[in-house]
Amino acid sequence: MRNLFLNHVAQTSENPLMLEIDHAEECYLYDVRGKKYLDLISGIAVSNIGHNNKKVKEAIISQLDKYMHVMVYGEFIEAPQVQYAKWLSDHLPQNLNAVYFTNSGSEGVEGAIKLAKRYTGRTEVISFKNSYHGSTMGALSTGNTEERKNSFRPLIPDNRILNYNSFEDIHFITEKTACVLMEPIQAEAGVILPEENYLLHIRKKCAEVGALLMFDECQTGFGRTGNLFAFQKFNIIPDVLLLGKALGGGMPLGAFIASREIMQVFTQNPFLGHITTFGGHPVCCAAGLAAAQELTDLNLIAQVEKNSQLFKEKLIHPKIKMMRNCGLLIAVEFENDAFNLALNKKLIEEGLLVDWFLFAANCLRIAPPLIISEEEINTACTIILDVLNKE
Ligand code: PMP
Repeated sequence: MRNLFLNHVAQTSENPLMLEIDHAEECYLYDVRGKKYLDLISGIAVSNIGHNNKKVKEAIISQLDKYMHVMVYGEFIEAPQVQYAKWLSDHLPQNLNAVYFTNSGSEGVEGAIKLAKRYTGRTEVISFKNSYHGSTMGALSTGNTEERKNSFRPLIPDNRILNYNSFEDIHFITEKTACVLMEPIQAEAGVILPEENYLLHIRKKCAEVGALLMFDECQTGFGRTGNLFAFQKFNIIPDVLLLGKALGGGMPLGAFIASREIMQVFTQNPFLGHITTFGGHPVCCAAGLAAAQELTDLNLIAQVEKNSQLFKEKLIHPKIKMMRNCGLLIAVEFENDAFNLALNKKLIEEGLLVDWFLFAANCLRIAPPLIISEEEINTACTIILDVLNKE
């Protein structure tokens, strides 16, 4: 299997993790040799309600028995899509009541950028250094680092990149700006939180110049930060909300959400303004809705702050430079990249599934399923501290 993987599955790294997973249950993954890993990364912010959830599986099976793909997006009334769109609208402010489902987070970003250009009649897209919005051309243009973009130029023109948390840079948002695309909390940059009132100033400026404010909550959504969505924490409502990752309850699903008034521009000039074959797949929507209901039924969000506090209290060590977090999206900072990457390797050997951040390789990523127990947090922290003591 290892050789076949290396020979026939396209590689994106010279040293992939290569864990061969047999099955996963709640907070654990089990490899083919029976070794157990405590999941501290949730498949990168996907498995918020844990693995192999019974309700999600039942919803999938029930939908499979009815139908899978029947028609490209937006033509037929597919109950799982409608029900999930309703659930999302019910849990969002009034202006976020029209949901466009996509296949992935990246596709949601592409669709949202098109929506902003079409709605405002403007071309400029403003985004932020060290943000990550996906790997397709539009999403790549708007985020990332120069290093990650250079090999793929030319990228989408008229994209201006600002420094996140720079109040000075806000004046670059003008009447030419179609949209400001941002992560309210920068995830891949190593969990960078907005300075006080920063989002408020951006919100005000966007309203003043008529630019759409678009929050990418692919990573921060679905309870991870201690609210259903991170924007609720700051009380700043975007014009467009982008979702992905945990949205599908483990199945591939993305979305961009706006008001009906904004969204309806896709119906004309040109009509079918954004087309997707599989976006909002009924099985994925059924899974996502079941996961979202489980998140609220189990009251998981209420435990996030307490659990994040436990990590903070336990993870104290001279080698830890700093810890940044918002709920259970945690970055533990070390001296340099090499130290953290070596630590990652050792922790995985010890049965702790961890990771680093795309633009902060010196930071250990801790973003476990929200169902993680106090005992599991204690175990995780003990392993991390033991390994650090041996360094
Ligand atoms: N936005 C953010 C904030 C993300 O973290 C990601 C994925 N890491 C994406 C967008 C892209 O999502 P996908 O990989 O599903 O295209």
